[in-house]
Amino acid sequence: MFSPDPLPFALPDVGEEEVEAVASAIRSGWVSTGPKTKEFERAFAECLGGGDLEAVALNSATAGLHLGLEAVGVGPGDEVLVPTWTFTATAEVVRYLGAEPVFVDVMPDTLNIDLAKARQRLSEKTKAIMPVHLAGHPVDLDQLADFASKHDLQVIEDAAHAFPAAWQGTPIGAGASDATVFSFYATKTITTGEGGMLVTRNPELAARARVMRLHGISRDAFDRYRSNPGSWRYDVVAPGYKYNLTDPAAAMGLVQLRRAESMRLRREQIGQRYSEAFGDLELDLPAPLADGTHAWHLFIVRLADAPSRDDFVARLAEQGIGSSVHFIPLHLQPYWRDRSSLDADDFPVATREFDRVVSLPIFSSMTDEQVERVIVATRTALSW
Ligand SMILES: *Cc1c(COP(=O)(O)O)cnc(C)c1O
Repeated sequence: MFSPDPLPFALPDVGEEEVEAVASAIRSGWVSTGPKTKEFERAFAECLGGGDLEAVALNSATAGLHLGLEAVGVGPGDEVLVPTWTFTATAEVVRYLGAEPVFVDVMPDTLNIDLAKARQRLSEKTKAIMPVHLAGHPVDLDQLADFASKHDLQVIEDAAHAFPAAWQGTPIGAGASDATVFSFYATKTITTGEGGMLVTRNPELAARARVMRLHGISRDAFDRYRSNPGSWRYDVVAPGYKYNLTDPAAAMGLVQLRRAESMRLRREQIGQRYSEAFGDLELDLPAPLADGTHAWHLFIVRLADAPSRDDFVARLAEQGIGSSVHFIPLHLQPYWRDRSSLDADDFPVATREFDRVVSLPIFSSMTDEQVERVIVATRTALSW
């Protein structure tokens, strides 16, 4: 039964063009942050429509979420609304700043944050909300902006899954939120190995993030002295962090950025093929997106009946097919559960859906033959 050629759950789609770009960045002598990083920031902002959008390149999305919250002034005593259905990074950055994440249940169709339930979790201390575009399915940006303005909340979007994606005609990252953060981790839709990008229309927020990503050193001050050749002066204006992206990573990012839409189209095609092939099975498929662009970072199916999720995952593995689970809701994780005495019954949708979700392989370098293998393996695992 075991396939001689196991298919991993995810693989980065990188080729010779990326290798050449990284090599040439290294040969240039700029091995830390330099001109390629600047070029990557400009190209990324341009890709989302340009104009007053600013992009700040970072060594992870986690760094971007941290800097975004820091720049809007989240601190001790504040509360931040976070969907329970996300990776722990979304919540941990709230704790970095001494504030408290307040977990919110999700909607049954998209598994994105449920704003009606978020309303019930508001308090005097609520300062911000961090929606996640789960699997690349965009959250409703209009409802989000309404909710945020009505309750006077800052919005930092966790768009780790959502490049490129759009809500109706608006690219994720180009909406009204204070900042949007993308991930270029190895398994994400475009990759720099490790990396991330914070995007904002607020020039002060961008300036703060640029200062804080490199030790709290003020670039304004630095620029002031650049007219004076040979100047060694700079100002430390805050205890910042070490979150800058390197030029070799940025060079890889520039190639991936050019390929982003064609890679997205390939994932969309794979998703369509799965949906066609699974139409008659005891599986719930990802929610359709009526008006917009889905990034198809993940293809999450939900088992309608037996077998159990864990048996299903094991049966796929026996056929050489990797799969994963996105995510274990945070209210079920020991640290978050115990810290705030969270009760699973307060998150009925996430608690129920968690038991039946499985993420199937959906990466752009998959061959048609590999896609068909996943389909056969899935059918077999369900009729074992
Ligand atoms: C991957 C991921 C992150 C963190 O991204 P890094 O670039 O690895 O820091 C944050 N949020 C979600 C939802 C993710 O999937």
